[in-house]
Amino acid sequence: MVIEPKIRGNVCFTAHPVGCDRQVQQQIDYVRAQKKIKGPQKVLVIGSSNGYGLATRIVSAFSGGADTIGVAYERPGKGSKSGSAGWYNNVAFEEKARKEGLIARSVNGDAFSDEIKSEVIDLIKQHLGKVDLVVYSIAAPRRIDPKTGEIHSSVIKPIGASYTARTVDFQSGRLYETTTEPALEKEVEDTVKVMGGEDWGLWIEALDTAGVLAPGITTIAFSYIGPELTAPIYRQGTIGQAKKNLESTAAVLQKRLSSKGGQALVSINKALVTRASAVIPAVPLYISLLYRVMKEKKLHEGCIQQMYRMFNDSLFSGEAPELDNKGRIRLDDYEMRPDVQQEVADLWQQVSAENLESISDIKGFRAEFLRHHGFGMQGVDYEADVKV
Ligand code: NAD
Repeated sequence: MVIEPKIRGNVCFTAHPVGCDRQVQQQIDYVRAQKKIKGPQKVLVIGSSNGYGLATRIVSAFSGGADTIGVAYERPGKGSKSGSAGWYNNVAFEEKARKEGLIARSVNGDAFSDEIKSEVIDLIKQHLGKVDLVVYSIAAPRRIDPKTGEIHSSVIKPIGASYTARTVDFQSGRLYETTTEPALEKEVEDTVKVMGGEDWGLWIEALDTAGVLAPGITTIAFSYIGPELTAPIYRQGTIGQAKKNLESTAAVLQKRLSSKGGQALVSINKALVTRASAVIPAVPLYISLLYRVMKEKKLHEGCIQQMYRMFNDSLFSGEAPELDNKGRIRLDDYEMRPDVQQEVADLWQQVSAENLESISDIKGFRAEFLRHHGFGMQGVDYEADVKV
């Protein structure tokens, strides 16, 4: 069948298998054009099918020659419904890695569950022996607590006061004001349960207890801070509380892992178009302006450039990674440069329905979002019949 993008409310409900294959290949090509990294050889990526997790898996395999196991929660194609982009990305990654003679196994299921943790541990024992890098890159809307069975849903809301800001429907270019009411206490707790560090901790505990963490193990999870403009909805909001919890989990895990010469770190990454970031109020508009400024200054990076830089300059450079005063890697250093932030803030004041297309990089946002779903890739025949 012919698959077209179906986008509503900044969410895309379809994905193109050939286009996804092509965008995975593009990331591999980028990595191959860089200097090879002497990095980990046995890697587990939790949240491996998209965004930062997929990029980390690609850098591990195609720059470092690592065998990988990936965990993701994706939807296969069925009948006349296309699968999710992450499903096709996983298929593409596995095929390409195996062609290189690398082990590449993927587990599709709920990473928050005890069952998936045991399945992954069995796979590690069977195929990798032990792992020397564990990447935690989950962005999820809900989590079933494996102990209580309770369902926790994460919300993106401010805390204490409502937040009104302009945002953009990037598909139509409609700029509008949106108000988000403050979160209830329970919503803050639930968001921390889903996007905080508890599950990362449970993974490390399960892997350690099973004896599958190699000496010198590194584990890393990803966080975000962002500018004043989005602070009420992001860093000072529910998700920010979850991220602070994730960041403090690194210190707890560091204590556990230091006895085996290991390290637990958090990297603060740059704001990028992914499925997760497209649905946060104000963030698509901020990213559209940020992309414009960073591209003009030749500072722009996508997931793959960020993850390559994290491996090459920081985690596996041969020297101790440079950390901020809270012990975090700062891959958002270019985004947070004062000159970049000042220009974005100025554009934020000027942007209107009339000048959106000309003063922001909304076109770049749209194109990147589509590429994440396998659309708009050069050389792909979108009129052709494809198997879902
Ligand atoms: P993404 O939506 O592109 O990918 C999320 C991954 O999580 C996918 O592989 C998905 O399959 C997996 N996943 C979701 N629920 C799951 C479940 N229950 N079980 C197993 N797998 C599950 O997200 P992303 O933007 O790459 O975000 C990854 C991490 O990076 C998050 O912690 C996010 O907060 C952080 N981060 C993102 C940005 C950004 O701008 N996108 C910036 C800084 C930090």
